[in-house]
Amino acid sequence: MINVTKTFLPPQQEYNVILKRAWDNNWMTNRGVLVQELEEKLIKYLGVPNIIATTNGTLPLQIAIKAMGLKGEIITTPFSYVATTSSIVWEGCNPIFVDIHPDYLTIDESKIESAITKNTSAILATHVFGNPCAVDVIEAIAKKHQLKVIYDAAHCFGVKYEGQSIFEYGDISTCSFHATKLFHTGEGGAIFANTKPLHDLCFQLHNFGHKGQEDFSGLGINAKMSELQAAMGLAVLPYMNDVLKKRKKVIDLYNENLNFSGVQKIKIREGTSWNYSYYPFIFESKKQLLRTENALNEQCIYPRRYFYPSLNQLPYLKKKVLPISESISSRILCLPLYGELRKDEINQICSIILSNL
Ligand SMILES: *Cc1c(COP(=O)(O)O)cnc(C)c1O
Repeated sequence: MINVTKTFLPPQQEYNVILKRAWDNNWMTNRGVLVQELEEKLIKYLGVPNIIATTNGTLPLQIAIKAMGLKGEIITTPFSYVATTSSIVWEGCNPIFVDIHPDYLTIDESKIESAITKNTSAILATHVFGNPCAVDVIEAIAKKHQLKVIYDAAHCFGVKYEGQSIFEYGDISTCSFHATKLFHTGEGGAIFANTKPLHDLCFQLHNFGHKGQEDFSGLGINAKMSELQAAMGLAVLPYMNDVLKKRKKVIDLYNENLNFSGVQKIKIREGTSWNYSYYPFIFESKKQLLRTENALNEQCIYPRRYFYPSLNQLPYLKKKVLPISESISSRILCLPLYGELRKDEINQICSIILSNL
């Protein structure tokens, strides 16, 4: 069976050695030495000024909204994982969808300003498949209209834009370290807040709002990463450069094998050093996609329809039509992508796709 991804696992012995430190300390969570060490190593690896390790990649979005006191309408993208939208709704705000750019698949920055009303408090956009949004334009709009900017950078481990970590853009960026993501801690994630006061506030909010043992700075939640999760991260991190190299090889093979004449391809924004996180393939029609997906499934190959459905079609939201996002969502398939995917398997996947186009 070939799935869309296969979690990278370090040698178990190496994980056990790190885990033993948690046993020796008799310390499982509440920001033990392993979480602190992982944070220090990630700061170095990513080249960021600060980080808060969390227990998943969804709570950081909710903490970001809470920390900046966002109310009313938040402008967002319909082409993302459900967590982007659900976090807005869960925090009592109203998601206002702006359609996406047909080539970059990120929020269409030219359509943002006309969606701003007196109730708009922020823009929450996703760097889709590690492809950065038009951050310069978005941040200029935000400044002009005094809006906050949050980036859902769940797919962006290691991505740089204009020579700088993508996590340094916006007021707050978030990442996911879920097992299906590039770098993982089983479940996990991170908050990158771009001012010291905001970082300190997010830090307190991710730990119940504690400001010291008996003082509270505000309404918090428990989003702490455990020592068990951090141990996995510490075991995986040394392999990341190798993981990236192998994924690049797989992507090169796909590019060689698949015939892109007449096929629409995602455009990676200029100035990006990308992370090979996904291999999206956009079909001409939903019918063509379903036919190909069926043929792949028959050979026990299971790509995933990221992202489907378009989030404006969630059952708990008021209906609004977004033609580009809905069209792309219905036609896009993320192909299997992981370091151990063999050349013959890639050839098989490509020949099934080509024979169904
Ligand atoms: C995976 C993902 C999340 C959620 O992260 P979890 O760690 O699973 O909570 C949020 N946004 C996007 C775009 C994602 O792909």
